[in-house]
Amino acid sequence: MSSSPFARPGSPEYEAATHVFNLAAPVSPAAAVTARTVEEVRAAIGFARAEGLGVRMITTGHAAGGTTSMDGALLVRTELSGPVEVDSARRVARIPAGTKWGAVAEATAPHGLAAPHGSAATVGVVGYLLRGGLSFYGRKVGLATNSVRAVELVTADGELRRVDATTDPELFWALRGGGGGFGVVTAIEVDLFPATQVVTGMAIWPIAHAAELISVWEKWAAGAPWEASTSLRVLRLPDVPDVLPELRGRPTLSVDGAILGDPEDISVVERQAAELLEPLRAVAEPIMDTWQLTTPGAVLATHMDPDEPVPAHGDSILLTELGPDGIAEFLRVLGDGADTPLVVAGLRQLGGAFAEPNPDGGVLTHLDAAYVYSGAGIPFDAESATRISESFETVRAALRPWDTGGTAPTFVESVHQPQGHLSDEQVTEVDRIRARVDPEGLFRGDIMPKTTVVAS
Ligand SMILES: Cc1cc2nc3c(=O)[nH]c(=O)nc-3n(C[C@H](O)[C@H](O)[C@H](O)COP(=O)(O)OP(=O)(O)OC[C@H]3O[C@@H](n4cnc5c(N)ncnc54)[C@H](O)[C@@H]3O)c2cc1C
Repeated sequence: MSSSPFARPGSPEYEAATHVFNLAAPVSPAAAVTARTVEEVRAAIGFARAEGLGVRMITTGHAAGGTTSMDGALLVRTELSGPVEVDSARRVARIPAGTKWGAVAEATAPHGLAAPHGSAATVGVVGYLLRGGLSFYGRKVGLATNSVRAVELVTADGELRRVDATTDPELFWALRGGGGGFGVVTAIEVDLFPATQVVTGMAIWPIAHAAELISVWEKWAAGAPWEASTSLRVLRLPDVPDVLPELRGRPTLSVDGAILGDPEDISVVERQAAELLEPLRAVAEPIMDTWQLTTPGAVLATHMDPDEPVPAHGDSILLTELGPDGIAEFLRVLGDGADTPLVVAGLRQLGGAFAEPNPDGGVLTHLDAAYVYSGAGIPFDAESATRISESFETVRAALRPWDTGGTAPTFVESVHQPQGHLSDEQVTEVDRIRARVDPEGLFRGDIMPKTTVVAS
């Protein structure tokens, strides 16, 4: 038996290193390794060079659906050892690559601080931050990638670099939203913000009330305070024991999210929550309603994302304000009576700080849209996968007049969906910087579709 840490298909080490959260998008690189130290990352790069393999990176495989073929590549699963280090005076956390947001939230909470994490504790910090990152705090603090202070990565030459605004400003710029392909990130430093009280939760109604609820929500969303970031979704969850009885086997509509409270004056967040929730509750009594004033730890449970890996096909577009016509189209293809295989489909509120350009940020600093639409289905077989793909087209056709053509990179879940978050000039500039740190294209396979003009 070989003692090489670089595992080949069929071995348990290969299975462990290639395991992905999206079970519908398995990856099959030529070889795989789980790296726990910077030295192991360096060794992986050396092995790939010696074997003539490209290098790919993964933390959790949440984004596996949007990952191109790993043929001819060594996959490095990053599980760098070490704790999340919180510097409460500077309000910065240093996070080893491989850490998931749940562990970061646990580390920051005792300091009365929070990071701009997404909706699920299981999501990896690195992929989320490099691709933008939409948080339920995002309308207040902006795209999460703007909060990155420094990135530690091993580049193609095997060098460990700590990249920040002073050590290598142009690489730091390109890393934040540039589409990947720069090296293996081993740790990342991120700004934290004060957070001790939030109002968060989810309210759910029978789908019959969808038309009124979405109109009320959209009206509120147009003038909502930046402290509030919410989503409205149509849920068609299967009739299985894992799903809450209230939601099982029947279409429902949910409104969830978070409102960040000012610790000095809780009455503000209470009033903001009432302005959101009272008009919605007046439409009809929710069948479930978990919205409450609580601590930030609860925000990671609000969206009720799956804790365990699931198979999923997803689609996403960025939309302008919908207005009555857009809402009517949304309801026609997704509302009461619509024949759709999507288990979840809805709108995440943008605007606020999400829409603010950040002069200190990277190549992606903001999203110029009112909503991110995203929908997902669970493919059981080829037939259901086809139905799901067809439903993506149905929704896209219905919402075309409101489609900005842009993308939120963390929400792109298909290799067939080109990215739309960078201009041609930005793509060219990022390519130049990428070529400087990876002249031979060792990490070429990692680049997201349409974030390079260099032929792969
Ligand atoms: C249940 C669920 C909930 C989600 N919620 C949100 C949300 O609220 N907001 C949001 O914006 N997104 C959300 N997402 C999307 C998620 O942010 C993206 O899938 C993100 O890419 C996940 O990062 P990851 O590192 O865990 O993923 P992975 O699939 O492991 O990695 C994705 C990519 O990141 C890069 N990468 C990962 N690790 C490294 C490394 N060590 N070095 C260099 N590059 C690396 C690689 O390019 C890799 O292909 C959610 C996804 C799921 C499945």
